[in-house]
Amino acid sequence: MKKTVSIAFLIFSFFYGSALAQQPVLKALDGDKMIPGLTEIMDPEVTIIQPGIKDSDAPSDAIILFGGSDINSEWTDNKGAPSKWIVKDGSLVCVKGSGVIKTKRKFSNFQLHIEWKTPSEVSGDGQGRGNSGIFMQELYELQVLDSYNNRTYRHGQAGSFYKQFAPLVNVSRKPGEWQTYDVIYTAPTFNNDTTTFFTPPRVTVLHNGVLVQNNVSLRGPTVYVGIPEYFIKKHGAGSLVLQDHGNPVAYRNIWMREL
Ligand code: MG
Repeated sequence: MKKTVSIAFLIFSFFYGSALAQQPVLKALDGDKMIPGLTEIMDPEVTIIQPGIKDSDAPSDAIILFGGSDINSEWTDNKGAPSKWIVKDGSLVCVKGSGVIKTKRKFSNFQLHIEWKTPSEVSGDGQGRGNSGIFMQELYELQVLDSYNNRTYRHGQAGSFYKQFAPLVNVSRKPGEWQTYDVIYTAPTFNNDTTTFFTPPRVTVLHNGVLVQNNVSLRGPTVYVGIPEYFIKKHGAGSLVLQDHGNPVAYRNIWMREL
């Protein structure tokens, strides 16, 4: 009997400890008695990492994409040349006309922490005030904008996925104050025809610690004009891209955990 229970336990452990762990609990094999140990899996132990002192600090397994001084190790311009964005007071500042910057590394599924600040000296309005953006896999823009007392179309403000999903709330801080995005991104998969998603990209975003995108399914790569569904193309891993929209938006403390 003991041997039977042991085999049943091993079989049960395999399924319960795998991706099926989210499924309803499996029944023990015929003749076995359900005991607490059948649902208490010890191995493999969950990986131990060291948290930051503050929640915004990178944990020990994160890739530091910008830590306050070096831009060239992780970033280039759109053509792979050194970026013309500048490092000032520990932050990475967009230079008008210099174009986007992109990570040398390419990513699929990830957790991203990034902090950003629009200029304290307000100029322009609508989409012209403190505009930048963070593109997942080079294609899907999480909007960065000064949305403090600055109305624009609802799915184009800070916290939106540009022209696809408005944020659940506008939790913007004043211009010149640091703000945070924490993003959980799941890359799309594609059908064999390469033009349609099998599973679309999914994304959850916290803006200043508040949920603004709740596991939304993106409809396609971001477009300025038209409907995104028309422009789906199969793609693999991609860079994280920061947009030059002509405003000196600053970034700092950028870290990524691949999932
Ligand atoms: Mg933008």
